[in-house]
Amino acid sequence: MRDMRIGVVVFLCVLCLSQAAFAREPQKSAADWAADAVMKGDSRRNPQAGKAQDAKDERPLTNDEIAAMIKTRLAALRKARAARLAEERNKAAAEPVVRGGHWSYEGENGPEQWGRLKPEWAACASGQRQSPIDIRDGIKVDLEPVAFDYRPSRFNVLDNGHTVQVNVDPGNSITLTGRRYELVQFHFHRPSEEKVNGRGFEMVAHLVHKDAGGRLAVVAVLIDSGTAHGLIQTVWNNLPLEKHEPLAPLAAIDLNQLLPERREYYTYMGSLTTPPCSEGVLWIVLKAPIQASPQQIAIFGRLYPMNARPLQDSFGRMIKESN
Ligand SMILES: [Zn+2]
Repeated sequence: MRDMRIGVVVFLCVLCLSQAAFAREPQKSAADWAADAVMKGDSRRNPQAGKAQDAKDERPLTNDEIAAMIKTRLAALRKARAARLAEERNKAAAEPVVRGGHWSYEGENGPEQWGRLKPEWAACASGQRQSPIDIRDGIKVDLEPVAFDYRPSRFNVLDNGHTVQVNVDPGNSITLTGRRYELVQFHFHRPSEEKVNGRGFEMVAHLVHKDAGGRLAVVAVLIDSGTAHGLIQTVWNNLPLEKHEPLAPLAAIDLNQLLPERREYYTYMGSLTTPPCSEGVLWIVLKAPIQASPQQIAIFGRLYPMNARPLQDSFGRMIKESN
C-alpha cells in the first residue's frame, strides 16, 4: 500500500507539471485524472470481460504502469493541444479577410472586392463562369421548351438587405432535359443584371430552382416599364416593415402570372450573381420581357435603387437560344 501511495503522489506531481505545461487544457483537475488513471490501470490489468475481478484493488501499480499511464496522458494532452491549435488556425482562416465580410453593390465592399472579402467568395474574382453576362451571339437551335409546373402557393416576403426575396412553399417546379428543379424563391434586381445584345431592362426577376442533387437552375424574367403587374403588386403589398423579418400573408400567388406568354429563351452556364458567386448554375433567360408600371418599379427603387452586379466576362462561353 505504501508503494502505491508513493506512486500516486509521484503521478500527481507529474500530472500537475503536465497540466501547467499545457495550461489551457480545460476542466478536469489533476486529482480527477489520477483517479481516472488508477481506474483505467485496474481495467487494464483485467482486460478480458467476465474474468474474475477478485483482489484487483489490492495489487499496487508498478512504476512501469504509472510511467505508461503518464506517457499516455501526456500524449493525449499533446494531441488535444494540437487539435485546439488547428481549430484556432481554421477559425482564423475562415474570418473575413477585410471589413467583416459584408458585401454591397457600391463602395468599399462593392462587386470588385467581393472575391477578397472572404476566402469562400474567391470565385467572385477568379471564376470564369460568372454571371451576369451580356447575352449575344447565341447559337440558334430548337431548344426543348422548359416545362413549367407552377401552381397557387403560399409565400413569404423577405427584405434580406440586398433585395426583396419571395420564398415560395414547395410544389412548384420546372423540368428540363429530364431533370426536375423545384422552385425555392424568387427575387428582383434593378436594373436587370443581364443584358441582351448590350440592352438592359428596368428590372429582372430571378426564379431560383434546385434539383434533388442541389444543382441550381435560375429562370430570369426581364421586366420592362409599362402596365402594372398583378403579382408584383401582391408582393409589394406584403413588403415587410423590417429587414430580415419575413412577412407571411394568408394569400397565395401563382407564379404562372410572372411568366411571359412566349417562352423562348437563352441558356448558358453561369453563377450566382451574389457572393459566394458559386458556379455550375444553369441560366434560362426568357427572351420576352414582362411589364411592371413605373410606379411599381419606383417602389422597388426606393428600397434598392441599384442592386445589379456588373457584367462579367463570358470567356467565350457557349450561349444557346431558341429559334
Ligand atoms: Zn438574382
